[in-house]
Amino acid sequence: MSLMNQHTRPDTTPIPFIDVASQRRRIASQIDAAVARVMNHCLFVMGPEVAAFEKDLAAFCGAKHAISCASGTDALLLVLMARGIGPGDAVFCPAFTFCATAEVVALLGATPVFVDIDATTFNIDVASLKRAIPVAKQKGLNPKAVMPVDLFGLPADHDAVTAVAAAEGLFVLDDAAQGFGGVYKGRKVGTLAPATATSFFPAKPLGCFGDGGAVMTDDDELADILRSLRVHGQGADRYDNVRIGITGRLDTIQAAILIEKLKIFSDEIAARNAVARRYSAGLKDVATVPQVPEGYTSVWAQYVIRLQPGRRDKLATDLKAQGIPTAIYYPRPLNKLAAYTQFPLADRGVPVSEKLSEEVIALPMHAYLDAPVQDRVIDAVKHALSA
Ligand SMILES: *Cc1c(COP(=O)(O)O)cnc(C)c1O
Repeated sequence: MSLMNQHTRPDTTPIPFIDVASQRRRIASQIDAAVARVMNHCLFVMGPEVAAFEKDLAAFCGAKHAISCASGTDALLLVLMARGIGPGDAVFCPAFTFCATAEVVALLGATPVFVDIDATTFNIDVASLKRAIPVAKQKGLNPKAVMPVDLFGLPADHDAVTAVAAAEGLFVLDDAAQGFGGVYKGRKVGTLAPATATSFFPAKPLGCFGDGGAVMTDDDELADILRSLRVHGQGADRYDNVRIGITGRLDTIQAAILIEKLKIFSDEIAARNAVARRYSAGLKDVATVPQVPEGYTSVWAQYVIRLQPGRRDKLATDLKAQGIPTAIYYPRPLNKLAAYTQFPLADRGVPVSEKLSEEVIALPMHAYLDAPVQDRVIDAVKHALSA
């Protein structure tokens, strides 16, 4: 131990990766009151808070309809079901995302075709998307849809995706499980594609106290089908079933919690952006820090830096010893996961996804990361990478 350390012993108090407890403290009384109201009226399924939350959610992003459901995965699944996606259909997904993006495609018997990502934004690379479409056709598949993902909270290049989709007759489903709250060229996530799916899993930027999700759309007919599908394909009433659906509703308690959380969401997005700016200023000389293109706002679902291959294990170990957690999103692209190796890749493969999966490491990120704690993280990263 150096002389200096004897006097200024470094603080190694464990810090949370995502601090759900601080947010809970901020609005504890409002949330408790909202939950108590549901406990008292006992309308646990499709109670009045569900429609009220859907109205607030649609208003927040400017979409005509918000249809809540049981998870982000169900939100994606319901849209593909409503579009009649099934065997023989190809749906284009980035290879660098959470598995749920491609999982719902495969679950319906359709074929996910993996597309590479852009090395700067981590989002779908439209040049690779163009190279994936002929691959699907050569395999005798019908190209039906593309699912851009707003990875780590940064909107994808939706204008570029929309242009390819329009030329090729593809439906666009925005997987905004990490990106709800983001802005792209003055337009909010939720309005950038004919359908947008999001997740309220607790660790997402807008999380509830369990599982939840929603679909945003301006399409009246699609909205009606989604509302039917989430309740067993109901028609005029619950015992008039006109299509095959699922049990996909959002619990009333979760809707009541989300109504309260949505009220502070804009403020939290601003706080996350302040944290991200501070990280980038502190770390830009020692790592590749994330870039936000002009005209985009990220909600920073994750703050992910890139290091030379082989360096991140030591960084993770050094930080862990000081009570600082890290995470790898994602250690493998989807095409390297056992359940997904069978699916086709865009022509020329997905080399950027494969490379980035070896270089990325995520640092603690949430709206309540105060400056002294953040300085501990920045100092520890700098120290570990210079040693
Ligand atoms: C979290 C996530 C999902 C799935 O959301 P759940 O609510 O956990 O089902 C889908 N896609 C992406 C990109 C995600 O990060």
